[in-house]
Amino acid sequence: MEEKKNLRRQDALDYHSKGRPGKIEVVTTKETATQRDLSLAYSPGVAEPCLAIAENPEDVYKYTAKGNLVAVISNGTAVLGLGDIGPEAGKPVMEGKGLLFKIYADIDVFDIELNTKDVDEFVRTVKILEPTFGGVNLEDIKAPECFEIEDRLRKELKIPVMHDDQHGTAIISGAALLNALEIVGKNIQDAKFIVSGAGAAAISCTQMYVQLGARKENITMFDKDGVICLERTNLFGKQKDFAVPTHITMAEAIKGADVFIGLSAANVLSQDMIRSMADNPIVFAMANPTPEISYEDATAARPDIIMATGRSDYPNQVNNVLGFPFIFRGALDVRATGINEAMKMAATYALAELAKEPVPDIVNIAYNEKNLTFGRTYIIPKPMDPRLLTTVAPAVAKAAMESGLATQPIEDWEAYEQVLAK
Ligand code: NAP
Ligand code: MG
Repeated sequence: MEEKKNLRRQDALDYHSKGRPGKIEVVTTKETATQRDLSLAYSPGVAEPCLAIAENPEDVYKYTAKGNLVAVISNGTAVLGLGDIGPEAGKPVMEGKGLLFKIYADIDVFDIELNTKDVDEFVRTVKILEPTFGGVNLEDIKAPECFEIEDRLRKELKIPVMHDDQHGTAIISGAALLNALEIVGKNIQDAKFIVSGAGAAAISCTQMYVQLGARKENITMFDKDGVICLERTNLFGKQKDFAVPTHITMAEAIKGADVFIGLSAANVLSQDMIRSMADNPIVFAMANPTPEISYEDATAARPDIIMATGRSDYPNQVNNVLGFPFIFRGALDVRATGINEAMKMAATYALAELAKEPVPDIVNIAYNEKNLTFGRTYIIPKPMDPRLLTTVAPAVAKAAMESGLATQPIEDWEAYEQVLAK
């Protein structure tokens, strides 16, 4: 990806408006040259697959695009770091997500922007869209509504559903965290965490770290009003899970902390706070586009730091594109009925392990690097690494099979990986 600082506003607008406006189109997958082709594609031939599916609903996967089609669905209430800009304004992001699904995992996407902030209406709409799709990627929906929408859809739909802003970030940052801790020789069970932000991403990331072994009593979380603590009356359910007993400032709480997780806003972390952290502090300042502290300031404050951001122009980019294309690829390929914790954990560990493998030349060249090697400035794979598809998708598919969510298990893994590698 181009570095943000080198992009002009007009370049981005021109990119989107040139030629046919937008970034995606529909293409056909069958022959359409002759009258006979058209008689097969549409009336009268099309009646045959219709009847076959009517008799056996599972045949919808055999005769239609459903099995490779993901809905990217948003109501535009929490778009990127831009906030509630509405469904139309969010559409470029949803089309962009479609583009990434396609180029990284050959998954087709219909982006769907819903003009509603009502949870019941949102859930009902997605539910009645289920026949069309093989999976649902919920996107850029604000907290706390996003939690209820996802929880209900996961229960009510028989296809995989994932809110990427929550779980994508949790999976990628979880992998990066495991590796950072390994590099500095610390145990996740003993690590003391400061989490800045208590929204969609922060809550779901923290839940993931707990699953990876972090202890709740070692975690202190903050939002705009300060620490998430039991004395406050304005917390929602999932925040209460992480509430500490009493008030404390971030400057006090961060003293001696091992890990800072930023999923909040620009410039909330100071150099002095980083200086007060434990040896080899791990700082993931992931607010986009401007992190909680700049890469330059953080690394200047502490030479022993491991620093990650959400940005492509610095090392250790926590980027959701490392996850969602491959997670859905694996889930679709075993026709999973959902995306469960086992599948998310499998993706996390697959990503963490891949970062430790020797990096192929093609990746070094793509990033203008000579020798990317596992270590402080390379704790997670790079988005353009072709091994992501052949590593993460099978790991997710296997986890779906082992945890009982796969309805069409893969038998020949070698053949599957060869198909993926094509
Ligand atoms: P969200 O649901 O709106 O949550 C934002 C949270 O940050 C809220 O708890 C908010 O508190 C808190 N916050 C805002 N300003 C703060 C401040 N000055 N000090 C402390 N806390 C503050 O948004 P989200 O989807 O979780 O995303 C949060 C941030 O993470 C965004 O910048 C987003 O771009 C970034 N993000 C990055 C990645 C990535 O790098 N891959 C992935 C996901 C999200 P209040 O509720 O009190 O306002
Ligand atoms: Mg998003």
